[in-house]
Amino acid sequence: MEKTLVIIKPCAVQRGLIGEVIHRFERKGLQLCGMKMMQLTDEILIEHYAHLAQQSFFKRIKDSMMITPVIVCCWKGLDAVRIVHAMAGKTNGREAAFGTIRGDFSMSVQENIIHTSDSVENANEELARFFKEDEIFEFEQNGLNFLYANDEI
Ligand code: ADP
Repeated sequence: MEKTLVIIKPCAVQRGLIGEVIHRFERKGLQLCGMKMMQLTDEILIEHYAHLAQQSFFKRIKDSMMITPVIVCCWKGLDAVRIVHAMAGKTNGREAAFGTIRGDFSMSVQENIIHTSDSVENANEELARFFKEDEIFEFEQNGLNFLYANDEI
């Protein structure tokens, strides 16, 4: 099964949406296998947002990610990377479809509630960036046979 990274951003921490975000992934049937609060730094954000380094808003998004601690989570499931990314919705909260996390809770391009990995390769790289190996837990998910058919897992 795949594992993917979710970062609950400072805007969601301040707006009291941590539980709401976690609730959505839990209800979907994903397994939470790592979670912690951490203060992001310039160093880790330069790496994490390297693909945006040339953008005029680069400093602004880094600053907005350091205003408060964030919650980083590791979610596991069949096709977890694609599912979690789709549940986040489009980057711009005003364009994201209703029913997605950004579509339901964000009015902004920047203050858009969560980060999610966008490919299996990036998920592995990002999980290694934000978690130590012993902070990701392997344990049996109860009721797997009610979440999936035998031939799916
Ligand atoms: P996503 O988070 O949807 O994968 P990107 O990787 O392109 O999107 O951007 C990372 C984050 O940078 C976004 O989630 C958003 O917070 C911020 N961002 C992206 N584009 C803009 C923009 N044009 N103006 C302000 N912030 C932006």
